[in-house]
Amino acid sequence: MANPNLNAELKEHSFEQSLRPLKLDEFVGQQKIIDNLSVFIKAARMRGEALDHVLLSGPPGLGKTTLANVIANEMKVNLRPTIGPVLEKPGDLAGLLTNLEEGDVLFIDEIHRLNPVVEEYLYSAMEDFKIDIVIDSGPNARSVQIELKRFTLVGATTRKGLLTAPLRARFGIDLRLDYYDTELLQHIAHRTARILNIGLSDRGSFEIARRSRGTPRIVNRLIRRTRDFAEVASESEITDKLADKALNALDVDANGLDDMDVRILNVLTQQYRGKPVGLSTLAVAVNEEKGTIEEVYEPFLIQEGFIQRTPKGRIATQKAFEYMGVKPGSEDSDLFS
Ligand code: ADP
Repeated sequence: MANPNLNAELKEHSFEQSLRPLKLDEFVGQQKIIDNLSVFIKAARMRGEALDHVLLSGPPGLGKTTLANVIANEMKVNLRPTIGPVLEKPGDLAGLLTNLEEGDVLFIDEIHRLNPVVEEYLYSAMEDFKIDIVIDSGPNARSVQIELKRFTLVGATTRKGLLTAPLRARFGIDLRLDYYDTELLQHIAHRTARILNIGLSDRGSFEIARRSRGTPRIVNRLIRRTRDFAEVASESEITDKLADKALNALDVDANGLDDMDVRILNVLTQQYRGKPVGLSTLAVAVNEEKGTIEEVYEPFLIQEGFIQRTPKGRIATQKAFEYMGVKPGSEDSDLFS
């Protein structure tokens, strides 16, 4: 029987795929990264060499996979995608590496989740373009060295801090993607609306962009959902009014904070009243994984000035107290304790 979850995931994947910019000049924002990459790509192409290995880091949905595709496209080579935890043993990686053609891009998403044995195996491939493979088994087992074609490893991670120093050191190009400002997100919203063939007013795109947590993936999702609202209302254009109605129905609040963001702020302002809270405590209090809080929720809340990370733990800022309508340390903040 078809798995509805899998179906939904595949649909989402092909939706994202259809919206992916393919060239450097179609990629919106991250200007410094794009400028640098275009120089490195041009230089590598002029020398007829593979591009140096590239590490892309930053929160989910900011365009790491998209950039890996753009790199392969601009270098006019194949992209071979995989995901860190899928490579369980060195043999899995060897299979991929030996099938690469000259200059190809091997894209490893979630590279911080590589098995340490596989990771070590990757070192010589990245550095010397050689790997050892064991052939035969038992007393006849012996190791043979294989030369690889020169390839480019593009690694993506939401947790750069978890990468080991030797792996990090093997990337010649190290790029960190940041959240997008509202103007850039509006740009992306209009591009997506054009591709999906739905009208979008400037005020409509502003409403969606400012409530998208600085993230293109969220812009695209919200456009798709608001399009449903527009179609049901027989409107040919997403206006600010329609966007507001749809976003409220989707529980996206006026600042773009979602339910989990608000729960985190609740714990910090109401339960702990601005006292530092450790990550594990916070995770239990909001019933979410520590890693997800660190990778997905915290970076945005920190950037927007709602929380601060201190050596003793996370604390709510004045802005968070104002936002939640709670006075720091006051009696009405006793609600959850
Ligand atoms: P990540 O790999 O960082 O999680 P993706 O590359 O999968 O993010 O991007 C998620 C979605 O957002 C894709 O559908 C992509 O089309 C869109 N997107 C990301 N960055 C941009 C950008 N700079 N310009 C236009 N669309 C973007």
